[in-house]
Amino acid sequence: MTMQNLLDYDLKGLTDYFAQLGEKPFRAKQVARWIYHFGASDFAEMSDLAKSLREKLTHEAAIIPPTLLTEQSANDGTRKWLLDAGGKNGVETVYIPEDKRGTLCISSQVGCALACTFCSTGRQGFNRNLTTAEIIGQLWWANRALGQAPNGERLITNVVMMGMGEPLANYANVLTALNLMLDDHAYGLSRRRVTVSTSGMVPAIDQLREDCPVALAISLHAPNDTLRDELVPINKKYPLNVLMAACQRYLEKAPRDFITFEYIMLSGINDRPEHAQQLINLVRDVPCKFNLIPFNPFPNSGYQRSSPESIHRFRSTLMAAGHVVTTRKTRGDDIDAACGQLAGRVQDKTRRTTHRMEFA
Ligand code: SAH
Ligand code: SF4
Repeated sequence: MTMQNLLDYDLKGLTDYFAQLGEKPFRAKQVARWIYHFGASDFAEMSDLAKSLREKLTHEAAIIPPTLLTEQSANDGTRKWLLDAGGKNGVETVYIPEDKRGTLCISSQVGCALACTFCSTGRQGFNRNLTTAEIIGQLWWANRALGQAPNGERLITNVVMMGMGEPLANYANVLTALNLMLDDHAYGLSRRRVTVSTSGMVPAIDQLREDCPVALAISLHAPNDTLRDELVPINKKYPLNVLMAACQRYLEKAPRDFITFEYIMLSGINDRPEHAQQLINLVRDVPCKFNLIPFNPFPNSGYQRSSPESIHRFRSTLMAAGHVVTTRKTRGDDIDAACGQLAGRVQDKTRRTTHRMEFA
């Protein structure tokens, strides 16, 4: 019999599992608290479970987080973990401490099939989806490694799914992991503090709105279909008018009353004044905030970061039209922990999609 990894279950799944064992539903809550509040991975630690149940669990189930390969700390306090995803592959998780919050940026896939041209993960092609255990295991590890704040406050206050991979292309496993992030018996984060970032998979955006409407960020990156078809190829399937309509529908259930539009600043490509004007026009019916992301270079990307002057001008144009705009600070520069630089390791190339090999 194969061991059941309990990290693959949300509270509903755990409850069903315990029911199968003939146990009461509250056992699921007890075990979840041990795993997620106290970072337990051994049933022997779970002192409020009957000894007979602990023994039964030891034979039938396990708590198996991904294996930690390396850990790095940047000068600005950013930390990065590389976790083993099997077959010589690895995925990365980044912790970004700020004044009043600590944000964990987690990955959802090994590689990504969506092939955005400016993205290092996209350039590597797709290997596989992470399991729920591997997704929630990133929080589990980070929590354990970070330890307790001196004042007892939690260190991870926010989670963003902005690491490697397209979360909505791994919908079922991401949904189960989101349920655990929100559940009080696991991480107990509010829906406002958990953000899914997507390149615009419209049917899955609609599904998320029904299943688990957390905060939504859209990787927009271009103000018209011609340019977006090139930079974010999934735009050919779900063009901008379809995407904007999905954003409006999402807002009916969203925990915040705006969508965050991420916009990467690529010199001479999407950062000109006319692009800002088109953008203002594009989003006129969608309450939103903009997050400008200066492009983070990686070898042979073929792109350059916009100049500070262009970014400033772009930002001012949006602000003059009444928009709230933030410009993302680059964090963890010295450990390659910035957005789009999370390469992890995709060494098992056998299952890579072949259309990406032109970049190799
Ligand atoms: N697949 C999802 C989430 C992961 S990418 C998505 O695309 O939204 C997280 C963010 O980093 C996205 O907005 C993505 O477009 C951006 N990004 C990718 N490569 C980047 C780079 N080289 N520099 C800056 N941001 C980048
Ligand atoms: Fe995939 Fe997001 Fe990178 Fe595009 S930007 S290739 S969707 S990870």
